[in-house]
Amino acid sequence: VSDTCLFCRIVAKEVPATVVHETGTTLAFRDIGPKAPVHVLVIPKGHHANVADLAGADPALAGEVLAAVGEVARAEGLADGYRVIFNTGPHGGQEVGHVHAHVLGGASLGPMLCR
Ligand code: 5GP
Ligand code: ZN
Repeated sequence: VSDTCLFCRIVAKEVPATVVHETGTTLAFRDIGPKAPVHVLVIPKGHHANVADLAGADPALAGEVLAAVGEVARAEGLADGYRVIFNTGPHGGQEVGHVHAHVLGGASLGPMLCR
């Protein structure tokens, strides 16, 4: 999978990323095209296609991803709130087929979706 999946390649350090948080099972790094003052992607290191597949295959790992979201929000100073988005599938605008939470904040985001 790491040969073809961009985010597996980031986990493997084959592609550089600005990492802001890491645990044994999760990685968080800045989005290359930020849509908000703070835009971090949080992923499980293991490959799962989307959030529902992740939760079905490994619910504990899904929880670890969500806990990492909270750690990122705290570290990034998002005490006034933030948005968490899991784009899923073509209609959801998912472009990278390795589950990732978008953590968006640093400004009032209004009603618009992530993309
Ligand atoms: P999706 O559309 O799949 O929900 O989100 C994919 C996100 O990955 C996009 O917001 C895009 O800007 C980001 N992205 C794509 N390629 C790279 C990359 O090489 N490095 C980083 N840090 N982010 C990327
Ligand atoms: Zn992957």
